[in-house]
Amino acid sequence: MAYAQPALVPEQSALRQVARLGYAPQDVRHIVLTHLHRDHTGGLPDFPHARVHVHPDEYRAVTDPAAAHHRHSLDRFMPAHRAHNPLLAPAPVEKRTEWFGFPGVARPRGLACELLLVPLPGHSAGHAGVAVRDGAGRWLLHAGDAYMYHGELEHTPHLSHPVLEPVQRGAETDAAARVATRDRLRGLRRDRADEVTVFSAHDPWEFARLAALTG
Ligand SMILES: [Zn+2]
Repeated sequence: MAYAQPALVPEQSALRQVARLGYAPQDVRHIVLTHLHRDHTGGLPDFPHARVHVHPDEYRAVTDPAAAHHRHSLDRFMPAHRAHNPLLAPAPVEKRTEWFGFPGVARPRGLACELLLVPLPGHSAGHAGVAVRDGAGRWLLHAGDAYMYHGELEHTPHLSHPVLEPVQRGAETDAAARVATRDRLRGLRRDRADEVTVFSAHDPWEFARLAALTG
């Protein structure tokens, strides 16, 4: 299970990485998350003053008992990560805005940069990628857990990872939507690679490749 368990190394925590950049924890005023599963929320108590932006579908799933997948969502958002009452902020959806054909895009308020939450459904109830435009006009898309292994996007036919595939199936809310999302990301990577770099949350090989590129 090494690929599905976070390494508990304090130096890799967001808190320590922010400190190494010369900032104090209270300087972090905004956090943008793809979803609220426990392996994505562990650092929240370190930044209690930050606004935590999520897609409104994810916000609804954890806060509204009548919402679809409410129990699923709450079970995976650990009490220790939300005991401090994080400032969850549902980002407003821009009705007519699509991002490379992906509908339902939300734009967190109060950020200075061009940043969008792009629905990538199937995993958590309101799972969304985080798209950021860099200074050169290109986009980075953090696809969260929409896929977990680069072979799912890069190989034809798609190649699943034997350890990560059961993790994906165990956590999904909608299997058909997850597969459809994966296939849309395959198309994005194939057709728009010059404009968008896509990466995910659980793939150490993909991370190493991108880290080598950025130095
Ligand atoms: Zn997840």
